[in-house]
Amino acid sequence: MPDFFCIFTSHHLQMVDILSTKIEYLKGIGSKRAELLNKELGIVTFGDMLEYYPFRYIDKSRIHKVSEICDDTVYYQLIGTISNLQSFGSPRTTRMTAVFSDETGSIELIWFKGFKWIKDKFVRGKKYLVFGKANIFNNRFNFTHPDIEEYDPNSTLSGETLQGVYNVTETLKNHGLGTKQIAKIMKTLVLQTRDVIPENLPSELVKKDNLVSRREALYKIHLPSNANDIEKATLRLKYEEHFFFQMRMLLSKRSREQNMKSVVFPVVGELFNTFYEKYLPFPLTNAQKRVIREIRADLKTGSQMNRLLQGDVGSGKTIVALMIMLLAIDNGYQAALMAPTEILATQHYETLSKQLADMPVKVALLTGSTKQKDRKQIFSDLADGTLNILIGTHALIENDVVFKKLGLCIVDEQHRFGVAQRAKFWEKTPYPPHTLVMTATPIPRTLAMTQFGDLDVSIIDELPPGRKPVKTIHAYMEQRLSIISFMKRQIAEGRQIYVVYPLIKESEKMDLINLKEGYEALLRDFPEPEYRICVVHGQLSADDKDFEMRRFVRNQAHIMVATTVIEVGVNVPNASVMIIENANRFGLSQLHQLRGRVGRGADQSYCILVTDHKISNDGKRRMDAMVATNDGFAIAEEDLKLRGPGETQGTRQSGQIEMKIGDLTVDEPIIRQVRYRVNEILNDDATLSKPENANMKTYFYTRYAKTFDWGKIG
Ligand code: ADP
Ligand code: MG
Repeated sequence: MPDFFCIFTSHHLQMVDILSTKIEYLKGIGSKRAELLNKELGIVTFGDMLEYYPFRYIDKSRIHKVSEICDDTVYYQLIGTISNLQSFGSPRTTRMTAVFSDETGSIELIWFKGFKWIKDKFVRGKKYLVFGKANIFNNRFNFTHPDIEEYDPNSTLSGETLQGVYNVTETLKNHGLGTKQIAKIMKTLVLQTRDVIPENLPSELVKKDNLVSRREALYKIHLPSNANDIEKATLRLKYEEHFFFQMRMLLSKRSREQNMKSVVFPVVGELFNTFYEKYLPFPLTNAQKRVIREIRADLKTGSQMNRLLQGDVGSGKTIVALMIMLLAIDNGYQAALMAPTEILATQHYETLSKQLADMPVKVALLTGSTKQKDRKQIFSDLADGTLNILIGTHALIENDVVFKKLGLCIVDEQHRFGVAQRAKFWEKTPYPPHTLVMTATPIPRTLAMTQFGDLDVSIIDELPPGRKPVKTIHAYMEQRLSIISFMKRQIAEGRQIYVVYPLIKESEKMDLINLKEGYEALLRDFPEPEYRICVVHGQLSADDKDFEMRRFVRNQAHIMVATTVIEVGVNVPNASVMIIENANRFGLSQLHQLRGRVGRGADQSYCILVTDHKISNDGKRRMDAMVATNDGFAIAEEDLKLRGPGETQGTRQSGQIEMKIGDLTVDEPIIRQVRYRVNEILNDDATLSKPENANMKTYFYTRYAKTFDWGKIG
């Protein structure tokens, strides 16, 4: 168990505060409703309930009239009577309706469940308060499963002008726990606990960063008097959520740095310097130089490096990898470079072999299709240390691959590999080797700080000089003829073209048919021998794929028709057009990756996104984003907004973040601030044993440390 557990002593565990009281003991809840709250919303304790924040507020003082209903996205609050209760579907009721009226008109109420409860509930002539969102059906508005309560002009709730609206499930609604009831329960709870809610941040910090107290925040988030209350409470609660998240990340990082000893690379030697002075094929960009410096600093410390290298497609990560590997060799160690596909591994091998041709460095390639004879040779060279660099696919982490002295492993396009696979390298050495994970998927800064907050991150934020930005066009299917003539002109100028089809597991058969039909259509439009087309997809054998791929790389084919197998890493600088069919079916970061395959040479390049006219709003937004910008980070930010953190590419599969109030799409300034603060605190009090940090430590331990994911080793 990591050391940092030792900083907690048992008395921290004894903290019994009112917030850990089971919710069933709250007045008006009872065991049945408590069970429902637990099942539907995961709420067990008072504390959980208090952290079930409203997702918006309505102005309670505002009572609408039926005649005002005109929008199906707005919540309305109406006062009126209920009549004409009817059941439909016999003999079993499947639907009930009623008519709700005020002096300006009437509107239908509809239920699909909870009939008995409804039948017993309404009394003719009584006034009810109805609250909900209006639906449109057959051009008329109705309320489906609205919140309804008897109207009481003296009701305590009507005292507040702003009332929180809570997310509730259908099941909760059917059991009389709609957003209004939740608000009521919350009020009871807030009033009961208000004076005993402990602060969980150091008081100095609360003052310095101008936060309201936790007590105040939890009160005002549920029972605000005005917009200012909501703003202050929200800020404080977001701050707190991010704060403890960063604490978790940074404690883990520190513990790793202290405990994961690795080899030291003290010298910048002969190989590194010779390469830099004599064989570097181009001057490095400033970003490349900075990143190499950052990595070198890590390698001198004696702690294991665990660094993420982010750089947009084409930003030149490979040369960085090469130079760092030379550093390892200079210090007497071997290096491994692992890529997710055979094509990419082969390409890395070819590039590096060429660049190292005149240097005394031995490089080999190991993939699933390496011949038995060659494998034997590689294994023997690895074991006696004559092999310096091994490049390959997953084959590298198999058990029979034994290094003499592995000191560095570099993983390209990391999102294709799981943590477990990376950890397998560790079994090959007596100490964890330095690890550099490279990715061309730009990760939005907020996500990087939270998801990868325990890793070090280096960013290449500059493309090599002379690149012309790719021109991106959104085209429709029926523009095919002009697309074809455009392709012909490009080919006449000596360029090559990618045509990519989506292929996903769920619709694999259909997708393959599309690809084949597309391929055949292209064969008709681009007849041999004048034109040559190659095709690469997942169903080809590795040999065939390689063969086809090679034809394109060597400029023996004008067009490559492919599925997303080319997504990752392939470098064909002469290719200048990327046509993406059914582009709306790709995610934003995938589209951006694909576009990155072109624009690598000196020529103007193009990306044509082909879709149907009918695409979803999100699909349209993705196309627009692609047309609007070439900036991978901007694309990643948009992707985060469109899909949320759970879906964004580059997120870690394990331990996904679920935030209660924090929002990675907008909270960047807060996250930066709390990260800075947490570091400040840990620098001053690494074990959190100073009295002023006691409340924070207790809270952190009881809330987070128990579920701490120690498996996150990068
Ligand atoms: P990625 O970051 O996508 O892996 P690569 O390492 O494949 O990018 O580099 C893309 C292309 O840019 C390669 O052809 C590489 O030789 C070239 N390149 C990399 N760095 C520079 C540089 N500093 N100046 C000019 N060209 C460069
Ligand atoms: Mg690359």
